[in-house]
Amino acid sequence: MNDPRLEELLAYDRAHLWHPYSSALTPQHPYLVESASGVRLRLRLPDGSRRECIDAMSSWWCAIHGYAVPELDAAASAQLERMSHVMFGGLTHEPAIALARRLVNLAPRHTEAGVVSGLRADAADGTGQSPLQHVFFADSGSVSVEVAMKMALQVHVAEGTGKRRFFTIRGGYHGDTFSPMSVTDPDGGMHSLWRGILPEHLFAPHPPAPDASAADLLAWEADTRALYAVHAHEIAAVILEPIMQGAGGMTFHDPRAVQVLAEIARESGALVIFDEIATGFGRTGTMWAAEAAGVVPDIMCVGKALTGGYLTLAAVLCTTDVAERVSGGEAGGLMHGPTFMANPLACAIAGASLDLLARDPELSAVAGLERGLAEGLAPARDLGSVRDVRVRGGVGVIELREPLRGSEIAAYAVQRGVWVRPFRNLVYTMPPYVTSDEDLATLTEVLVHAVATVHG
Ligand SMILES: *Cc1c(COP(=O)(O)O)cnc(C)c1O
Repeated sequence: MNDPRLEELLAYDRAHLWHPYSSALTPQHPYLVESASGVRLRLRLPDGSRRECIDAMSSWWCAIHGYAVPELDAAASAQLERMSHVMFGGLTHEPAIALARRLVNLAPRHTEAGVVSGLRADAADGTGQSPLQHVFFADSGSVSVEVAMKMALQVHVAEGTGKRRFFTIRGGYHGDTFSPMSVTDPDGGMHSLWRGILPEHLFAPHPPAPDASAADLLAWEADTRALYAVHAHEIAAVILEPIMQGAGGMTFHDPRAVQVLAEIARESGALVIFDEIATGFGRTGTMWAAEAAGVVPDIMCVGKALTGGYLTLAAVLCTTDVAERVSGGEAGGLMHGPTFMANPLACAIAGASLDLLARDPELSAVAGLERGLAEGLAPARDLGSVRDVRVRGGVGVIELREPLRGSEIAAYAVQRGVWVRPFRNLVYTMPPYVTSDEDLATLTEVLVHAVATVHG
């Protein structure tokens, strides 16, 4: 390395900064990003040279329109000229109102054609409203899950049912603060580390994959119903990621399993919470995974791609029924109010991001990603180290038979102009929706070659 400034910055980083899930004793060696535009990050390599990389991760699934997006930049600048933040207690503002209106109008609803979002014109044309009519803005995905769980508990506290446990499925991920951790997969979430600290909730077996046989599905349903029945009297809500589990293992599950969970919850007076933080805004091919699941939840969390990856913001939508039941209790309202709630800058950018999405109501860009990922990742099936290749919407996954050498794969990909961050035994991509066919072909080819070179 022959750039003392870069060297000094990275040395300070290693000595003083925590990176996600990192050790202070054996610090990671992150790449310094200087700028980003379109689907490309401009990185510094360890030798000090510069490299443009196609972002296969959309910055942890957020940057759906890519970087330095003119429409989002313009929304940010215009809002900065008015105000970047004001408190939300006792005050309100147009960016929050406009964003809440967009979210309510986009939310999933039942129609004759099944569950659809308001993105499709046929839904907007008077097929009725979504029951999800109330919006709480939170400052991150984890906080939105905290709020969703608090809403559900407040309903049961208000009504004196004594129900205070949550029921979920194995393999999930809901965030890193304590309540979301308590419903995250017990192994993936390292519950052993938190024994005696995390509340103990209930985990049904991992649901079968979408192509599962009727027999597998029935067996799963029987086990799940049996576990639920034992605890039905204490379950406040069922919480899950519909259709796709993200950070828990990049798996897809059968919509019928989601329907079973919603049915048993509602039979027993429990609420249904969908965590659409990863799946929302088109990632799995429909605006909401709820559409593919055919279920409208009582409470829904959105985050990640909400601002197109510009700023942290999340939202919890709930039905009028839930909002009234929460508010009817002794507390008289929802007892939550983060300092940066409904940050105007974030809301303004989120509004502009949703406008961009609405330009493609059929989500044809995501359908294009699905085709390109399926074609480009298919050759990985022939590799001895690969157990499974799966694609849905804008999500492509190569699952290895063994734990992977992630930093070697990342380094190989960066050398060839692709940024990827594999975890566990998964090399996966969730590219920006604006990725061109050519860039997608490069991206998938590099991922397949990376796996072939490092693992065989
Ligand atoms: C990322 C994620 C979260 C947590 O969101 P943060 O913004 O990181 O707090 C929760 N649930 C799901 C499904 C996620 O993918």
